[in-house]
Amino acid sequence: MKIILLGAPGCGKGTQAVKIQNKFGIKHVSSGDLFRAAISSGTPIGNLAKEYMNKGQLVPDNVTIELVKNTLQAKIEDGSLENGFMLDGFPRTLDQAKELQKFMDIDLVLYFEISNDKVLERIAKRKFCSKCKENYVAGDDFTTCTKCGGKIVRRDDDDPEVAKKRLEVYEKQTFPLIEYYKELGILKTINADQPQEKVEQDINVLLGEV
Ligand code: ADP
Ligand code: ZN
Repeated sequence: MKIILLGAPGCGKGTQAVKIQNKFGIKHVSSGDLFRAAISSGTPIGNLAKEYMNKGQLVPDNVTIELVKNTLQAKIEDGSLENGFMLDGFPRTLDQAKELQKFMDIDLVLYFEISNDKVLERIAKRKFCSKCKENYVAGDDFTTCTKCGGKIVRRDDDDPEVAKKRLEVYEKQTFPLIEYYKELGILKTINADQPQEKVEQDINVLLGEV
C-alpha cells in the first residue's frame, strides 16, 4: 500500500508512522529524515537544505523532488518497499504532489487534523534520541536514551520561533493539498488532537477499510 501522511509539523505523523511500520511492514520514508541524514554526512544537498530548514522554510521543490524520487526508486529496486511505504513530510507543495502523481499512484492519504495550539505545545516539548530516534518529552529526566544509551537532543528547528514559522509555511503551502487529495477521492481524516493510543486505533480501523 502506498500512503501519504499529511499534517502540520508536530501533528504526530512521524510517531504513528513508526508504529505502522513495526506492525504492518509498510516502510516509513520521511523527507525530513532524508535531509537530516544529508546534513549529517555533509553532502551538497545537506548543506543547501540546512539553510532553509534552520529558517523554517521549505527546501526548493526541484531539490526535494529529486531526492525523494531517487530514494523511492532505489528502495523499490532493492526490494525494501515490497509491503508499500508511507511518505512523511512529502509532498508539501502542490507542485510536489503533481510530480509524485506523475511518478506513481497513491492509494491513501491520511490527514492528521490538529489545532495550532496543540502543535506548538507539542513541538516545544519534544526531544528524541540522536541514535535510535526514540521520542522523549521535555519533562523527562533523561539525558541519555533508556533504550540505547544515545544522547537525547532537540531538533534545531524545534526552537519556538522557527516552529511558528514552519506552521505558517504549512498553512500557506501545504494546506491546499487537502483539497487536492479530496478531489482525487483518496483523503481520509484523522483527529490528531486525541491521545496517541486513540489516534493509533483510528488509523488501524482506516487501514483495515482500504
Ligand atoms: P516537520 O514535519 O516537523 O516540520 P520534517 O522533518 O518533515 O519536520 O521537516 C523538517 C524540515 O525539512 C522542513 O521544515 C523543511 O525545511 C524540510 N523539508 C522536509 N520535507 C520537505 C519537503 N517535502 N519540501 C520542502 N522542504 C522539506
Ligand atoms: Zn536511543
